[in-house]
Amino acid sequence: MNRKYNFSAGPSTMPLEVLNQLSSEIVNFHGEGMSLIEASHRSAMYDGVHSHATDMVRELLSVPDDFDVLFLGGGATLQFSMVPLNFLTKDTTCDFVVSGSWSLKALEDAEKVGGVNVLFEGSESLPTAVEPSDNSAYLHITSNETIGGVQWQDFPQTGTVPLIADMSSDIMSRPIPWRSFSLVYAGAQKNLGPAGVTLVIAKKTFLDNGNPGLTAYLDYRIHAGKASLYNTPPVFSIWALSLVTDWVKSQGGLSAMEELAEKRSSTLYGIIDGSDGFFRCPVAPEYRSKMNVVFRLPSEALEKQFIAEAESRGMSGLKGHRSVGGCRASLYNAMPVDGANTLAEFMKEFKKSNT
Ligand SMILES: *Cc1c(COP(=O)(O)O)cnc(C)c1O
Repeated sequence: MNRKYNFSAGPSTMPLEVLNQLSSEIVNFHGEGMSLIEASHRSAMYDGVHSHATDMVRELLSVPDDFDVLFLGGGATLQFSMVPLNFLTKDTTCDFVVSGSWSLKALEDAEKVGGVNVLFEGSESLPTAVEPSDNSAYLHITSNETIGGVQWQDFPQTGTVPLIADMSSDIMSRPIPWRSFSLVYAGAQKNLGPAGVTLVIAKKTFLDNGNPGLTAYLDYRIHAGKASLYNTPPVFSIWALSLVTDWVKSQGGLSAMEELAEKRSSTLYGIIDGSDGFFRCPVAPEYRSKMNVVFRLPSEALEKQFIAEAESRGMSGLKGHRSVGGCRASLYNAMPVDGANTLAEFMKEFKKSNT
């Protein structure tokens, strides 16, 4: 196969080794004479995969013992509902940093449940410090804005106010300072595997103080009490996620992922900044994402041409989100450094032949 470099923002590129392993094990799982996706989620066969996925997430992300690791359905989008339903009421208020489209979506759902106080609003930068409001139920941030290409480098200090982060597009690309956080969540389809499972990692005491009276699926405590086996979990996606975590470990774990992310993204930002304004990144250098590099060309016509020519050279998914246009190169963990280098070479060439 002539494998493409897939720069899509999500679902997105997976490690080739994991795709091959899934393909070789899908019919006959470890010689069991059946597929894992045909097995009961209460079987020993699945249980091994489920606990391995949990253990690997704990190991790679150094999750403290007083945090639960949950695998849920509904994408990160269901977390936009579950977080306020569990921790906000019509008589309480939470804080939000709105740094782009995804934090805005999370905010719009929270507003349907209770009070929301916006501490900062912007799409090309982040606040240098935040001051949570008195009695805030929590502060919600988006660690990496997938559409705008803005990423928190150092997380805010919130004192006693619980910090919650949507880490869908940069989880497992760097260590998480757990002392700062009460809950983080991430849809799998960027850095963790295929769509269908959402990882939630939350402090047990925080979950214990959630709102009573929720219907079963929406209540984190129900899932935590049953190790994410209250109902049928997305078994295929969790299996694939467990293989991705094995792959991350084999590559050297989070520190290797962090180094590779730096290498890939600095290559592209270097080309953008050295292009005499041919390529432009709207995000200030100190807030630029190492996962999603957004950039513009001198005209929409050139952007269209750039994306088409890249596609014909085996580089796909470079079109910016439909809401903002432009170009976007998503450089998740599974993107080989060679992919970023190939794109960088093409950018230089494209500039030369179009100026
Ligand atoms: C992709 C993404 C989402 C949406 O995830 P779904 O799994 O489609 O619900 C939310 N937040 C961020 C930061 C994302 O990148």
